[in-house]
Amino acid sequence: MGRRLGVMGGTFDPIHYGHLVTAEEALAQFELEGVLFVPTGLPWMKEHEVVSPAEDRYLMTVIATASNPLFRVSRIEVEREGPTYTVETLRALKAEEDADLYFITGADAILEIVQWKDRSDLFDLAHFIAATRPGYDMAGFEVPGEMSDAVTEMNIPALAISSTDIRDRVKAGRPIRYLVPEGVKSYIEKAGLYR
Ligand code: NAP
Repeated sequence: MGRRLGVMGGTFDPIHYGHLVTAEEALAQFELEGVLFVPTGLPWMKEHEVVSPAEDRYLMTVIATASNPLFRVSRIEVEREGPTYTVETLRALKAEEDADLYFITGADAILEIVQWKDRSDLFDLAHFIAATRPGYDMAGFEVPGEMSDAVTEMNIPALAISSTDIRDRVKAGRPIRYLVPEGVKSYIEKAGLYR
């Protein structure tokens, strides 16, 4: 069996325990040697939303993953100019890392990725792991026929935690302890994010 590397894509605004549990579960289920977290640069579909600076999201991801020797964080999308396309990231990582890639992210995002840029190349570049929250409506998760072998769904109870809820809580002055790692909570407070 060759090397198998997880690639965990996300905006991570902020990263939370649901993301960490997702990565750990993929590591075990797919016998990965490690998971590379890739915070997005400028998510092209979010041009009209307020997203925290890439550097803040990158640093929170480093803090959250620091205690796990099998987790690493990449600056590849943070440093790339222009909108973030997963296909470009996977091409670059495939050339850099001599490994089979397993791209892990939320199910809705997986559907978008396979419906957009250079879809046919995606099959050759990676296997896709679609994480779903409890109560996720599977009717919405319809993978095109030729992709059905290339996508695995993984239900993650800990994804009851969401970045949107955490941002809303900070704004309302409600607690986020135990939803994010302590260091991430401190970073949010120090940087004054989501107020
Ligand atoms: P999003 O639309 O903000 O999130 C969609 C859903 O997935 C949310 O419920 C989100 O929950 C969850 N999610 C996001 N990342 C996750 C992860 N790593 N593990 C588990 N759940 C996750 O999605 P996004 O963060 O912008 O994009 C996710 C990834 O897909 C990024 O790497 C992005 O670049 C890529 N993407 C690429 C394309 C393309 O190339 N055409 C299109 C869409 C997305 P939380 O808010 O709690 O995280």
